[in-house]
Amino acid sequence: TEACLTEIEAADALGAFVHKTPEIALAQAKAADARIKAGDAPAMCGIPLGIKDLFCTRGVPSQAASRILEGFRPEYESTVSQNLWDNGAVMLGKLNMDEFAMGSSNETSAYGNAVNPWRRGNDDTALTPGGSSGGSASAVAADLCLAATGTDTGGSIRQPAAFVGITGLKPTYGRCSRWGVVAFASSLDQAGPMTKTVRDAAIMLQAMAGHDPKDSTSAKLPLPDFEAALTGDIRGKKIGIPREYRMDGMPQEIESLWHQGAEMMRDAGAEIVDISLPHTKYALPAYYVIAPAEASSNLARYDGVRYGHRATLAQGDGITQMYEKTRAQGFGHEVQRRVMIGTYVLSAGFYDAYYNRARKVRTLIKKDFDDVFATGIDAILTPATPSAAFGLGEMAEADPVQMYLNDVFTVTVNLAGLPGIAVPAGLDKSGLPLGLQLIGRPWQEDALLNTAYALE
Ligand code: GLN
Repeated sequence: TEACLTEIEAADALGAFVHKTPEIALAQAKAADARIKAGDAPAMCGIPLGIKDLFCTRGVPSQAASRILEGFRPEYESTVSQNLWDNGAVMLGKLNMDEFAMGSSNETSAYGNAVNPWRRGNDDTALTPGGSSGGSASAVAADLCLAATGTDTGGSIRQPAAFVGITGLKPTYGRCSRWGVVAFASSLDQAGPMTKTVRDAAIMLQAMAGHDPKDSTSAKLPLPDFEAALTGDIRGKKIGIPREYRMDGMPQEIESLWHQGAEMMRDAGAEIVDISLPHTKYALPAYYVIAPAEASSNLARYDGVRYGHRATLAQGDGITQMYEKTRAQGFGHEVQRRVMIGTYVLSAGFYDAYYNRARKVRTLIKKDFDDVFATGIDAILTPATPSAAFGLGEMAEADPVQMYLNDVFTVTVNLAGLPGIAVPAGLDKSGLPLGLQLIGRPWQEDALLNTAYALE
């Protein structure tokens, strides 16, 4: 813990930590020492972690990287972080992210973006650590913490993990409690571990997950022993390669990395099978209707009364002006854009044309996966991202769709509620990490982790 605290101070320029909690960390580390001495040391005992700013942590600023939550210190602890503390883990501080987890580059953060510790060869251009869990990715890759929590609504664990060369797991929807995690799109949001290795992901998921009566969508299912599942034996497993993920204009490097991954699995005794997920092309548009719709509803609570920021009012301003000014000042552009899209697609005249249509598409996407798994496929292998980490400022704010296209390989997994994991799989020609994604059957993170372990 002390070594991490020193590293964090030395690496301030990365912008990964937005709030440091050294006093809490040292007290928790001391308690962990005592537990170890007493012979009562759970798996995460004494492991120093960073926590994404989306998780509410008692008495510690929890702002979802938004101005609108300025000064908000929750009186409660998210279930996932509480589970980690109960398991002996140590909190080093809160990690940078895109505002309300909306973004793919960490550039929508009210704190300013975190930076990727990697560089393209000798080129000094600062690169994005990805998003929205960009601070988590940057901190783990730069050894500022041993692991971090992330959340994933459309790829926010897997894409940043791929961009910095670490492992990121999005569990099955309902595996980790959403209680105390600031809501973005409630039917898609899921917390998960961001770690250096697949084994670490298995150990950390074990501590984070489990049924929680405070989240009605949390599953009442026993937890498999995730670490025990890591045998590395994938002989006879059927790995699907979905042909619809071979996108036009996909860089050759990504294509060959994907091919290599499949070869590795074949060498390990798995059977590689061509599969089809025919509705893939509708996933991004469906996601960018459903996620903003839910976000516009979830973000209605930031009204200047209940939390954080409230605008200074002029003489004669009423409650409407208070709401308007507070929300105009408190929300960044991307969040405002999502709220506008969301309220539009939910409005009486357009509800059927957009929101209901997107929900039907979502059902078809889920059915694509169900059909494939019904044929005996154990896991699906795809690239994690369509490119390596891009330069900060490279994606024009004027063209948000360019940024949304980054999520092309990840959003289907959230729409279908499935577990997905990104594992580092090699470097591109400029020396940047690239990741592969494995998608598993629902509630079978144990098998998924083992498949990823064989690929690691
Ligand atoms: N990049 C996606 C978005 O902006 C996903 C974000 C996430 O998973 N939280 O919505």
